[in-house]
Amino acid sequence: MRILEHPNPALKQRSLEVDPASDTELRTLVAAMACAMYEAPGVGLAAPQLGVVKRVVVYDVDDELYAVCNPVIVERSEESECDEEGCLSVPGIGVMIPRSVRVTCEGVDLDGAPVRIEAEGLLARVLQHEIDHLDGVLVLDRCSAEDRRDAIRRYNEIHEQVG
Ligand SMILES: [Zn+2]
Repeated sequence: MRILEHPNPALKQRSLEVDPASDTELRTLVAAMACAMYEAPGVGLAAPQLGVVKRVVVYDVDDELYAVCNPVIVERSEESECDEEGCLSVPGIGVMIPRSVRVTCEGVDLDGAPVRIEAEGLLARVLQHEIDHLDGVLVLDRCSAEDRRDAIRRYNEIHEQVG
């Protein structure tokens, strides 16, 4: 499946919670997401990036694939860090984005069992980024107005060249 790119309106939608007990397409979806993520390659992907408005994310920052349904950040550190962030849906563009250094994320796995992830550093950033996608929020919505103008100009230039 193709990863949708900005400004596709599907990326701006708020995704819906899933019920692993009744959603028979969940495993197929996660397999397609993992496939698209590794092919890109990237370290995380959210279902709406494939045009599926479900609250499902996959990530692999440590050579292990994880899938989380209905992820919610339940705790975050006050300490934040600004770093350059890219997005497979805004290809070719990196923008500086402040994120909490540590987050605790809760959700359920593909069997519906509760999961709790204590994350810091890159994993914390990836979780915040992917959960943003579930709310229709892109990196372009998170950076400063100046960075946003600059990023959109560069992005449009790249896209015009590609055609
Ligand atoms: Zn992204």
